[in-house]
Amino acid sequence: MDHFLYRDGILHAEDVPLPDIAAAVGTPFYVYSTATLTRHYWLFDEALVGLDHLVCYAMKANSNQAILKLMAGLGAGVDVVSGGEYARARAAGFSGERIVFSGVGKTASEMHAALIGGIRQFNVESEPEMRALSEIAVSLGLTAPVTVRVNPDVDARTHEKIATGKSENKFGIPIGRAREVYAEAAALPGIEVVGIDVHIGSQLTDLDPFREAYLKVAALTRQLRADGHDIRRLDLGGGLGIPYERSNLAPPLPTEYGAVVHETVGDLGCEIEIEPGRLIAGNAGILVSSVIYVKSGEGRDFLILDSAMNDLIRPAMYGAYHDIVPVVEAAPGAEPHPYDIVGPVCESGDTFAKARSMPPVAAGDLVAFRSAGAYGAVMSSEYNSRPLIPEVLVQGDQHAVIRPRPTFDEMINRDTIPEWL
Ligand SMILES: *Cc1c(COP(=O)(O)O)cnc(C)c1O
Repeated sequence: MDHFLYRDGILHAEDVPLPDIAAAVGTPFYVYSTATLTRHYWLFDEALVGLDHLVCYAMKANSNQAILKLMAGLGAGVDVVSGGEYARARAAGFSGERIVFSGVGKTASEMHAALIGGIRQFNVESEPEMRALSEIAVSLGLTAPVTVRVNPDVDARTHEKIATGKSENKFGIPIGRAREVYAEAAALPGIEVVGIDVHIGSQLTDLDPFREAYLKVAALTRQLRADGHDIRRLDLGGGLGIPYERSNLAPPLPTEYGAVVHETVGDLGCEIEIEPGRLIAGNAGILVSSVIYVKSGEGRDFLILDSAMNDLIRPAMYGAYHDIVPVVEAAPGAEPHPYDIVGPVCESGDTFAKARSMPPVAAGDLVAFRSAGAYGAVMSSEYNSRPLIPEVLVQGDQHAVIRPRPTFDEMINRDTIPEWL
């Protein structure tokens, strides 16, 4: 469920008509709903009731400071994957005890900064990383709390670019080698093993891979405890998918996911962390764009929008589907028309949809991409010197720009010219 609904034929974000925002900030823009973000956080939190738990929002899905501040205020933890994300988390008010640090290539300076600034745990992904972390912690006279990310070799049955739990993926250490790695970790100075971490992929639409992975983690917990390790925390990662295509079968709900957590690891007495990103932010945001031209091609009509692959790369990068709807609802009985929906960027890859059937629209009309709140703005670029598009947050009948569109001068002035030119 989200809070982008038609009222009197006009698509609204909560109580704000989208044409009002378009008039105020210009198109294209992203707009997010506070009510949806909040609701999704609580769904996860409630799904884990009865377990000592922390929902750590995976900010790589959407790391705008306003959204982070909202999450911090709800009591969430946060999952970061870079020094920049760590800095964003601190700036938004997350204390170190609420930040978990994931990622396969943490650098020495990133680990250093997180140790000094405070950290709940590092999710360590390799032995070289563990040794580097040990050295840095010792040099600072600090102890680094760690989990080891294990790769359970399960097929997440998702897009190949976002599957992370098969043995051929770069993530984690093979679960079969976990005992060895934990033995080394326990012997390293400056390292305190606190638990186990797993994350098998993103946009999962089926609970079976989660169940399979979590059962392996439960078995490993028992084994490692028998080996003498104090396994007291399980980080179960993120990955629950969202319904991008409304006509399709909906993916499992957070409550159903929570039931799998209870069923697989609920009896271990561990503190549970989960790291949802997409399900919190995805359906909490849409991208609003204007039609520049409707161009008749050979055997097809092109809808040329003012947004492009640089603003929302998911269709070009993953072949992803987004529902694209007119902001002003079509008149009853209007015949749907097939369009190739494209942006202005000079690449054929700049195509959002081919032969997409939608109500007829004309130049100047507004259209909205649904489910664009996660992996949208964060993956955007200024390719073709197209300014990063504004982000707007809505709450009830209020709206505020939470990242302005840069001017051309601001873009140009970020470059510097060497003195010899
Ligand atoms: C990407 C990622 C997540 C979030 O995944 P979603 O599919 O957005 O829920 C969580 N944890 C880790 C380690 C990740 O890399």
